[in-house]
Amino acid sequence: MRVGVLGGGQLGRMLALAGHPLGVRCTVLDPAAESSAGQVCPQIRGEFDDFRALYELARASDVVTFEFENVPVESARWLAERVPVFPPPRALEVSQERLAEKEFFASLGIPTPPFAAVDSRAEFDAAVREIGLPAVLKTRRFGYDGKGQAVLRTPADCDAAWERLGGRPLILEGFVPFDRELSVIAVRGRDGQVTTYPLIENVHRDGILHRSVSPAANTGEELAERAAEYASRVLAELDYVGVLTVEWFQDGPRLLANEMAPRVHNSGHGTIDAAVTSQFENHLRAVCGLPLGRCDAVGWSAMYNFIGSVPPAAEVLANPDAKLHTYGKSPRPGRKVGHVTLRAASADDLAEKLPDWDRQFERAPGT
Ligand code: AMP
Repeated sequence: MRVGVLGGGQLGRMLALAGHPLGVRCTVLDPAAESSAGQVCPQIRGEFDDFRALYELARASDVVTFEFENVPVESARWLAERVPVFPPPRALEVSQERLAEKEFFASLGIPTPPFAAVDSRAEFDAAVREIGLPAVLKTRRFGYDGKGQAVLRTPADCDAAWERLGGRPLILEGFVPFDRELSVIAVRGRDGQVTTYPLIENVHRDGILHRSVSPAANTGEELAERAAEYASRVLAELDYVGVLTVEWFQDGPRLLANEMAPRVHNSGHGTIDAAVTSQFENHLRAVCGLPLGRCDAVGWSAMYNFIGSVPPAAEVLANPDAKLHTYGKSPRPGRKVGHVTLRAASADDLAEKLPDWDRQFERAPGT
C-alpha cells in the first residue's frame, strides 16, 4: 500500500517509520526543504494548496491522510475526488475551528467548558458577563500549543487581551479549574471497528505538552469507559477512519472536552515503546483497510517532550529505562525536536521513578 501524507513533520516521520515493517510506503507533501519526515521517506515539496503538488501526491498514493489539522479543507476535498482520503475532510473542518468544534461536541451530548462566540467588543463584554472570570479568550482558527489565547482574571486582562486578539473570530471559554488533563486516543477501521488506548494523563508547560503518563493513574473504569464512549460518538458521527484524539479536562467526576485532533497525537508518542500496537501503526492499518492491532499498554510509561533542543544522547540514555526519539529538526526555541519514553514494570514502579524522571527531563524555563 502507498500512503500519501499531507505534512512532513515529526508525526509524518513516525507514520513513515511505522509503515516500513508493514510494507506500507509513505510519501509526504510538505513545503519545507528538509522536513522531518522527508528524511525517512520520499517527499513531494510544495504548499498544501499547490494543486500540482497535490496531484503528484494523489498519483503516488493509494490512500491519502494528514498529520496536522491545518491542511486546507479544500485541498483534502479536492484529493478525495481522486483518491480515498482518511480521516474524512469533515473531521478537518470541525477541528480547525474552535467554535464549530465545541458546537459539534455539544451536539453529540459531550460536555465542554461553557463557551460563547466573540466577533466584536460588545459580544466580548456580553460573553464575559455571561461566563464570568476567570475565562480564556482564544482565536477560533490556527491556535495550537497555547498560541493565540489569553487567560483573563481581571477586567484589565480583558482590555489587554482584546488589544492583542481582537478583530479576529474568537471564542470565550470558562476557565476550568481542572484536576488534570487527560487524552483519549481511539482508532476506527474502514469496517467500523473501534479500539481505544488507555487514558493518558498530560501536563502542559507554557501551553505545550511537557509530559504524558500512560495509563493515567486512578481513573477508575467508569471514567475511562466514558471517555471512550464519547470518542466513539465522534467517530461514528463523522464516519471516521484512522486515529482520533480527544483532549479532556477532568474536574472531579466531570470530563469536559477541550479539543480534538483528527490525527495521531503528541500525547500518544509513548505508544511506540509502551503499547502492543503504536498509534502510528494503527493509523496506517486503519487507513489502509487492514485489521487493527491491540491498543493495550505494555507496562506503565512516561513520555517527555524535548522542546528547543535534544539533550546529548549519552545523557538521555544514561537512564536505562529511556527510549530516545529525535526528529531530525534543527534546534529552535519552542520547537518540538524529540521525545523520550520511559517504561516501568508496575504502577508502583512508575510512581517511584517518576520524580527522578521529572527531574532528569524537566524543561528549562522559556524553551
Ligand atoms: P488549547 O490550545 O486549547 O489546547 O489550550 C492549551 C492549554 O491551555 C490546555 O492544555 C490547558 O492547559 C489550557 N487551557 C485551555 N483552555 C482552558 C480552559 N477553558 N480552562 C483552563 N485551562 C485551559
